[in-house]
Amino acid sequence: MAKAANLGFPRIGARRELKTAVEAHWKGNLSADDLAAEGARLRAAHWQLQRDAGIEVIPSNDFSFYDHVLDMTAVLGAVPRRFGPVGDHVAPTQYFAMARGTAEAPAMEMTKWFDTNYHYIVPEFEEGQSFRLASLKPIEDFLEAKALGIHTRPVLVGPVTWLSLGKTKAEGLDPLTLLSAILPIYSDVLRRLAEAGADWVQIDEPVLVTDLSDGQRRALSTAYAELATAGPRLMLASYFGSLDDNLDLALSLPVAGLHLDLIRAPEQIKRVLEAGPDKVLSLGLIDGRNVWRADLARALDAAQTAARLHGTGRIQIAPSCSLLHVPVDLDAEAGLDAELKGWLSFARQKLAEVATLTRALNDGQVAVADALAANAALVASRASSSRIHDPKVKSRSASVGPDDLRRRSHYQVRQRAQAAQLNLPVFPTTTIGSFPQTAEVRRARADHRKGRISAADYDAFLKRETESCIRRQEALGLDMLVHGEFERNDMVEYFGEQLAGYAFTRFGWVQSYGSRCVKPPLIFGDVSRPQPMTVEWSGYAQSLTDRPVKGMLTGPVTILQWSFVRDDQPRSETCKQIALAIRDEVADLEAAGIKAIQIDEPAIREGLPLRRADWDGYLQWAVDCFRLSASPVRDETQIHTHMCYSEFNDIMPAIARMDADVISIETSRSDMELLTAFGDFEYPNEIGPGVWDIHSPRVPPQEDMITLLRKAASVIASERLWVNPDCGLKTRDWAETEASLKNLVAAAKALRKGD
Ligand code: GLN
Ligand code: ZN
Repeated sequence: MAKAANLGFPRIGARRELKTAVEAHWKGNLSADDLAAEGARLRAAHWQLQRDAGIEVIPSNDFSFYDHVLDMTAVLGAVPRRFGPVGDHVAPTQYFAMARGTAEAPAMEMTKWFDTNYHYIVPEFEEGQSFRLASLKPIEDFLEAKALGIHTRPVLVGPVTWLSLGKTKAEGLDPLTLLSAILPIYSDVLRRLAEAGADWVQIDEPVLVTDLSDGQRRALSTAYAELATAGPRLMLASYFGSLDDNLDLALSLPVAGLHLDLIRAPEQIKRVLEAGPDKVLSLGLIDGRNVWRADLARALDAAQTAARLHGTGRIQIAPSCSLLHVPVDLDAEAGLDAELKGWLSFARQKLAEVATLTRALNDGQVAVADALAANAALVASRASSSRIHDPKVKSRSASVGPDDLRRRSHYQVRQRAQAAQLNLPVFPTTTIGSFPQTAEVRRARADHRKGRISAADYDAFLKRETESCIRRQEALGLDMLVHGEFERNDMVEYFGEQLAGYAFTRFGWVQSYGSRCVKPPLIFGDVSRPQPMTVEWSGYAQSLTDRPVKGMLTGPVTILQWSFVRDDQPRSETCKQIALAIRDEVADLEAAGIKAIQIDEPAIREGLPLRRADWDGYLQWAVDCFRLSASPVRDETQIHTHMCYSEFNDIMPAIARMDADVISIETSRSDMELLTAFGDFEYPNEIGPGVWDIHSPRVPPQEDMITLLRKAASVIASERLWVNPDCGLKTRDWAETEASLKNLVAAAKALRKGD
């Protein structure tokens, strides 16, 4: 009999209960014991829910109070020295200190988990790094479930993935050399799990879908030769892509089971079945990364083929990866219309899909005939719905030609036209868009949303805020102004709400990091722009001043990247539709008298595929989409773009091909280091390297900014340099903002005088 399995469940709670509890604890309003009790309550509820959904292989240790990679770091006792000695075990205070930092010790770094929007805490390896078992959480959680009568399959982050994700702080230390030091601890944990009654353990090695070095390959062989005999049987989980050139390696490892992501890489099952491995195969047939209802007929087809060739008894049916990346429960969405809801599936619904599929495989389709028929009807309705398919959008997109991706003239020509129109000094000063979203601004937005203030009053409030923002910028002496973005909740949601083809959930939260969750909008259909989205605000701001006001838009790639994207057409096609909508907005802004338009693309880099071989293909369409959005304007209209903290070195040609007249980037924290990529590449257009780290409450003195700018001028010709903060100012308050910008303007003036 095939088994219904799950790889991980969202830990945050359907109503973000974990966020509430953890944040209350941080504020001192919830004791450690009460926090632990809330964690236990959530775990129990989630185990129960999975069992009720018909899941037989239920994960444990997938829950975490902050991050599962940090949990593994605690298990291994890899506590960086600045957080004090590791006692008997890593206590909650030390654990949260590592995640969030303290007054004395800066937090450990955080970065994106593969190509998801989930951020993990980066392990750190120091000089003389040692390890020891310092958390029994995997065993405790297993026993906790067992006491509730639920037999689970504990989950561990695998040793090679854990090491590969880490960062060495000691020169010349190759993290992989630490493998032999951590394997005994992994073995110890596995042994203890076996003693506690675990017969299987899921061990996650998503590095298996990335380009592996020889060292990583050797490490995988060494690790699993040792761990395979340590105790429980191992289900080695690969996900987020294809094993591809690592397939033979994965099959050669002496583990009892292998999980395959058959959503991202459906074709790989063929090669695996041909190899006929002596392993249980876990088929990831339900999309763990997206919110669409599965096409069960298609999934069943794949499952049946596998069962026929491999034997039903050696098959598990599962989501493609942990369900950490999708919201908890669609049933909570009372506000979504029935038709749209019929096309969706969140974590709880996905488990039902896994169970239905497994029953169909074991007991025949008649056993679940009703469920399969209902699924088929919904899948068919989505495929043909006129709410999704807009022939006008499709034909416009199909007719996009090379000329639509090009500005009228070359940068040098545009630069002259823009200089004549804008008449800016050298080292022009500007900001990245948003100004402080004060408690008052947020309150007014909430009041408006809840109907406590009228649309007219809200509008008048926003106008006052915008006007005061313009006056403050004038008083500060900034050269290019912005309207301040007071009307925006979020840089993607604001646009999504105004575009056709978009939908929003009430409780569709997904953990981004720690207690922080995001609620990505859903792109369910062809995207178009029924009417202008920002022209009124930008136009209003421009009407108040003689200085140029920059229009402010979010770029197509970023809108795509931070949404749940439809899975019935390539991402590139959806991105192109968004690009056309933004293009219309750009044209309308220009027509309304806006002379400079910034199209933010902070997410371009994070969209890079996991495999190098796929980078060029992605960058080609991503940059094309940016160009499509940016190019309907005259030469004298200046196009800006903005990117946050990012590594530019290896994507410099793509950045240059975007051909924005001005790019602003976050550089102050790296001490202008990021700018060298632009210098080395001889980047031809204008650049605004950030001189104020807006993530810190510190007001940077004028001298610091001058130093940074001098450094920048040694890399980039000064006539192509702009002076601006790292990023938007929405999280800062007015006092620090005005103090910092005053210094920033003074720094620019000093440089102009050649001081
Ligand atoms: N214009 C946006 C803002 O200032 C840019 C934010 C970002 O790059 N993350 O808020
Ligand atoms: Zn930014």
